[in-house]
Amino acid sequence: MTTPCIITVAITGSVPRKKDNPAVPISVDEQIESTQQAFEAGATLVHLHVRNDDESPTSDPARFGRLLEGIRARCPGMITQISTGGRSGAGRERGAMLGLAPDMASLATGSVNFPTRVYDNPPDLVDWLASEMLRYRIKPEVEAFDLSMIFQAAAMQRAGKIAGPLHVQFVMGVKNAMPVDREVLEFYVRTLGRLDPAATWTGAGIGRDQVTLARWSLELGGHCRTGLEDNVRLDKSTLAPSNAALVEQVVALCGEYGRRPATVTEARQLLSLPPAPS
Ligand code: ZN
Repeated sequence: MTTPCIITVAITGSVPRKKDNPAVPISVDEQIESTQQAFEAGATLVHLHVRNDDESPTSDPARFGRLLEGIRARCPGMITQISTGGRSGAGRERGAMLGLAPDMASLATGSVNFPTRVYDNPPDLVDWLASEMLRYRIKPEVEAFDLSMIFQAAAMQRAGKIAGPLHVQFVMGVKNAMPVDREVLEFYVRTLGRLDPAATWTGAGIGRDQVTLARWSLELGGHCRTGLEDNVRLDKSTLAPSNAALVEQVVALCGEYGRRPATVTEARQLLSLPPAPS
């Protein structure tokens, strides 16, 4: 039997996008509504940022708290994942909301160039974020923008700084970072399997590469990420009408590769997460 596919939906991101696509959810209410539609379409994991009313990113724990509460009430069992990415604050501000104990949080284990800036993840901050995740029993999703980040995650796991099997997201197609390259992805997957045979992984592509990475991930036994954070268009010309529409696109692709979307129970088992609170 093939492994069911965990579909992650990254609903909003941290870059002001409303002018590019009015469907990008900004307010907490819009985000809850959009997540529920994506959940009903087949997503089992939601990756979250929060925004101020002017769309600027924030790590305000109160906003995150209202968002998590809404999602837990409206999407039973859905895995919640908070971003600790660099746009929503500096230094430890990026982990200010981890006390809310989402199921997961993103953890970039190294620095990389982004389109117009350095995504700065110094070793002491990475260690501190990982220690907060251990403290609140949050599973990290390692954001791997490059090979060294995979080795760094494995070293942190060996040192007891990351608990349990690794879950790594391979990100391809961010300008100035790793391009979309099939042979490199296959090498990443083999390397991760060598470093941690129990590891799971997701492929994430940007823009039209979102579908390319979804296809490769389905074929190679990985999981998929989609959503308006990474792609405001379904293809070169068509605006994505919603996060749910992007999830439906991945659900349809699953069938082409003999896969099916995971249920929330399966997704939690695959990621070694505790069952959803009832
Ligand atoms: Zn994000």
